[in-house]
Amino acid sequence: MLKKDPPILVTRPSLPPVEEYEALVREIFSSRFLTNGGSQHKALERALGKKLGTPNLRLFTNGHLALECAIQALNLAPGEIITTPFTFISTTHAIVRCGFSPVFCDVEPDYFTMNPALLEQLITPRTRAILPVHVYGNPCDMDAIDAIAARHNLPVLYDAAHAFGVSVNGRAVADFGAASMFSFHATKCYHTIEGGAIATKDADYAELLNGYKNFGYHPDEEIREVGGNAKMNEFQAAMGLLNLKHFEEQIARRGKVAARYRENLSGVAGLSFRPVRPGATQNYAYLPVSFDPEVFGADRDQVNDTLKTYNIFARKYFYPLTSESACYKGQFDPTETPVALAASRNVLTLPLYADLALSDVDDICEIVLSCKK
Ligand SMILES: *Cc1c(COP(=O)(O)O)cnc(C)c1O
Repeated sequence: MLKKDPPILVTRPSLPPVEEYEALVREIFSSRFLTNGGSQHKALERALGKKLGTPNLRLFTNGHLALECAIQALNLAPGEIITTPFTFISTTHAIVRCGFSPVFCDVEPDYFTMNPALLEQLITPRTRAILPVHVYGNPCDMDAIDAIAARHNLPVLYDAAHAFGVSVNGRAVADFGAASMFSFHATKCYHTIEGGAIATKDADYAELLNGYKNFGYHPDEEIREVGGNAKMNEFQAAMGLLNLKHFEEQIARRGKVAARYRENLSGVAGLSFRPVRPGATQNYAYLPVSFDPEVFGADRDQVNDTLKTYNIFARKYFYPLTSESACYKGQFDPTETPVALAASRNVLTLPLYADLALSDVDDICEIVLSCKK
């Protein structure tokens, strides 16, 4: 097999037809309204609120700052926030940058989301909130987590960066917890170039978010919070409107790619796909595959390195655990979350995007299988 030229990366952002974007850019140029909640922003906030099933959606310039603002707007006393280490570093950084101590709960072996059976024992008088992650778009056990949180009167803030459009038994993920953060980064399955949002049922909290993302300003011009600047601009919002229009067709195409992987690799000893939580819909944001090196005969890193020799770049999402990142060295013990630790060593996310050719999927699968001993 020949080296891929151009290389195949783990993802490739979907883009609307350039003429469609040009038309909206012309509107922005003629309005000269570039940011601060212009008409593209207003339209996107409305449309996404509907799409994500939430009465109050607030847009941000990226998902990370959305998460920081969401933590700040909870107005918590100093203390601990319980989260998971098997996630993108942003989740842990947001907690720490807002002045809280992360406490790491291990994940469920099937779904790699916060294990509710281990959550309650981590709650102490210093616990202020719970921040679980819908890893790979697979929703957490939200009924269980929300019930534990309610018993202890703790807010739950979901990192839903991966879970755009996902619902469980007909209920949108944004309908759970105190609030949910969505990321619209270019590498996510829905994007606004850079961007993010917080969804919440609480209108007062949504008003606080307006302040935190815009220097504390409110419509009456009073500066009520020590807010920063995390506003989404009109060019981002225009991209978001167009990507939203094409979202369902993009997801359908991602689904076909994912199905091809499953067709090619199902039943291979030592290689497994993530199960889908019962009742949950899928957005095919990622294609995580777990390798059991004992059974498969090669480990995750060997498979990854072999793919690289063909110019195919999968990703080790999520390695290392956030709790073992260099900047947190010595602060946490990753062996206290053994399931997450094993996942970080064994999972490889394979290339998945809407226009990935099925023949390329076949090639990737052939290379993966050639690693098997
Ligand atoms: C992408 C991501 C973020 C951060 O979102 P940005 O829009 O890139 O700032 C946070 N959490 C998780 C799990 C992510 O994957």
